[in-house]
Amino acid sequence: MSSSDVIVIGGGLVGTAVAYGLSRLGGNITLLDEGDDAFRASRGNFGLIWVHGKGRGAPHYARWTRESGRRWPTLAARLRDETGIDVQFEQPGGFHLCFSDAELEARSERLAAVRDEVGGDYPFEILERAALRERLPQVGPKVVGASYSPMDGDVNPLKLLRALHAACTQRGVVLKAGHGVERITHADGLFTAHGGGRQFRAPKLVLAAGLGNARLAGQVGLNAPVGPSRGQLIVTERTRKLLDHPTGHVRQTDEGSIQIGESVEDAGFDDSTTTSTLAELACRAVASFPMLGRLNVVRVWAALRVMTPDVCPIYQESTSCPGAYVVACHGGVTLAAAHAFRIAPWIDGAAAPDELGAFRGDRFPVADHPAQALDRHHAY
Ligand SMILES: Cc1cc2nc3c(=O)[nH]c(=O)nc-3n(C[C@H](O)[C@H](O)[C@H](O)COP(=O)(O)OP(=O)(O)OC[C@H]3O[C@@H](n4cnc5c(N)ncnc54)[C@H](O)[C@@H]3O)c2cc1C
Repeated sequence: MSSSDVIVIGGGLVGTAVAYGLSRLGGNITLLDEGDDAFRASRGNFGLIWVHGKGRGAPHYARWTRESGRRWPTLAARLRDETGIDVQFEQPGGFHLCFSDAELEARSERLAAVRDEVGGDYPFEILERAALRERLPQVGPKVVGASYSPMDGDVNPLKLLRALHAACTQRGVVLKAGHGVERITHADGLFTAHGGGRQFRAPKLVLAAGLGNARLAGQVGLNAPVGPSRGQLIVTERTRKLLDHPTGHVRQTDEGSIQIGESVEDAGFDDSTTTSTLAELACRAVASFPMLGRLNVVRVWAALRVMTPDVCPIYQESTSCPGAYVVACHGGVTLAAAHAFRIAPWIDGAAAPDELGAFRGDRFPVADHPAQALDRHHAY
């Protein structure tokens, strides 16, 4: 039996960002992670810090995302100062390319609606082809225009995960890899996480187990109906600097390779790749930037998003088991700063951020299944 002040279950980007934020506030924290057998979106994502276009009809989500993007420079600087790891954060602004006038029109209308819903302060531009070519000369002839926002950027997501782990360890968080939690009990104000013959006890417990939250939440009176949404990605050989800005589907990594994303598929828990989908991704990338057609592909993979029915995050403290929290989301790279600097203080006892009321897990019926309600347009 081990005791601490807080147990965080899940060592992906969400759990480590929360644990890092909590560790800055003091207290003994234990982070339990199932390990390599689990699905781990944090090891297979696209690495965008993406704001513009997210959250139409959900201004709380649009604001939450925008505010996280604004806190990202602080997160990157603190991780570099504390760990020496440069997570390669850049925020040069991102482009969303459109391939028809109708698509560009719909994009313009969508962004204007989100800007109105959040009450302004939502910078973006709609660029017709000629204006786009001045800013992004590499675009192909099929691209008719784009939206651009200075709010967007990217990061090396694996370095981010490593930096968060290192920062947690340096601040005294006890990381227990290979500790899958099978069961949680609650008695006398204490939670006990049981798994692999070990028990961990604390007065506070944070569920940050990605897709594993769906099973664990009900054990502490919470509801987290997350489900898998498959995304396939391609990475090319390294090349000279070709792109100064990320787009929603193509970005150049800090190591020089071109990363091409990403499908949105309902494939259950199957995280294998398919040639037909990868071919579609490659075609769209080459239509976006024809010079990519000369590059060799070196690796492809698929990973499962942690998707809620309305694509917005779930943040809630349990009413029947106070002290138990759930933190589940898609967009865990973008939202890492919000998790470290806004969610962690709330779990530590500070007032809840204004947006949080709208993110409760009990907004969904308990039996709801995410795949049924997936709105693909919210994703990217
Ligand atoms: C293809 C793809 C592209 C993406 N692109 C982007 C992007 O560009 N920008 C962006 O912001 N987001 C992106 N995302 C989303 C982002 O990757 C996720 O939101 C984020 O990684 C979720 O982190 P997590 O910690 O909740 O989940 P995970 O990374 O899945 O981690 C969950 C962890 O919990 C552990 N666990 C599970 N069950 C248990 C248990 N019972 N006991 C103990 N531990 C347990 C697992 O071992 C795992 O380490 C993308 C996702 C995918 C799949």
